[in-house]
Amino acid sequence: MARGKKIYEGKAKTLYEGPEPGTLIQYFKDDATAFNAVKKDVIDGKGVLNNLLSEYFMVGLTSIGVPTHFLKRLNMREQLVRSCEIIPLEIIVRNVAAGSMSTRLGIEEGTQLPRPIIEYCLKDDKLGDPLVSEEHIAAFGWASQQDMDDILSLALRVNDFLAGVMYGVGIKLVDFKIEIGRVYDGDFQRLIIADEISPDSCRLWDIETGQKLDKDVFRRDLGSLTDAYTEVAKRLGVMPKNQHPVTKPTLIN
Ligand code: 5GP
Repeated sequence: MARGKKIYEGKAKTLYEGPEPGTLIQYFKDDATAFNAVKKDVIDGKGVLNNLLSEYFMVGLTSIGVPTHFLKRLNMREQLVRSCEIIPLEIIVRNVAAGSMSTRLGIEEGTQLPRPIIEYCLKDDKLGDPLVSEEHIAAFGWASQQDMDDILSLALRVNDFLAGVMYGVGIKLVDFKIEIGRVYDGDFQRLIIADEISPDSCRLWDIETGQKLDKDVFRRDLGSLTDAYTEVAKRLGVMPKNQHPVTKPTLIN
C-alpha cells in the first residue's frame, strides 16, 4: 500500500497519511529510547515485534468491544490505523508498584497494589511528561469531565483484558501506558485506544522467575531486548516458536 506524506515522527514510530481520508499508516521503527531520549539505541527487530504484538492486543480489545484505532496490519512494520485527535495525556495503569511510582513514593518495587491505580502524565517531551492531577486536566482543558469518565472506564477495561491475557501465558502485568484519541462519527464523538500496546509501553514480569520481559531490559541494561520481546510474542502465539524476528541483513566483507 502506497504511503502518503510523513505527518509525524516520534521516538519509536512514524505516521504517514493513509490511502483513505481519516486513515494513517503507522510504521514501527527499531529505535529504542529511555529517560526522555537521553539513552538511545537501535534494536534490530524491535519494530517488527511491536507491530505484531500491538496488532494482537488491539484485535483482542476490539473483539471484547473496546474501540481502538487499529484497522489492519499491512506488513511486518506497518499497520493501517484510524486517524484521531490524541488527548494530550499518557494514561498509566498500575497493578504492582514499580518504576517512577516506586521512586516517587518510596514503595518497594514488586509491592502488589490494593487496586489498580491510574495516573495521568501530560504528553510533553520538553517537560519530561510530568505527572498531572485531574484538577490540572480540568483547569487547563486537556480533557473534559465526560472524557475523564470515559478514559477511566477504557483504562480499566484494557487493564482487565491485558492482565488476563498475560496471566494466561505466565506473565504478570505490572503496569502500562496507553494513549487515547477522539474520533467523530457524524455529530457524535467518542474515544478510542490509539498509539500502541507493546512491551515498550508495559511492564511485564515472568510470574515464576520475576524475569523482566519489557523495555526495562533496555532501560536497566538487563540483556537482550529482542530476546525478551520474542519470548512474549512466542508465549502469545504471535510468533511461531523457533522463528526469529526479521532483522537487517548482515554485510559480509
Ligand atoms: P513509569 O512512570 O514507571 O516510568 O512508567 C509506567 C509505565 O508506563 C511503564 O510500563 C512504562 O513503560 C510506561 N510509560 C511511561 N511513559 C512512557 C512513554 O513515554 N513511552 C512509553 N512507550 N511507555 C511509557
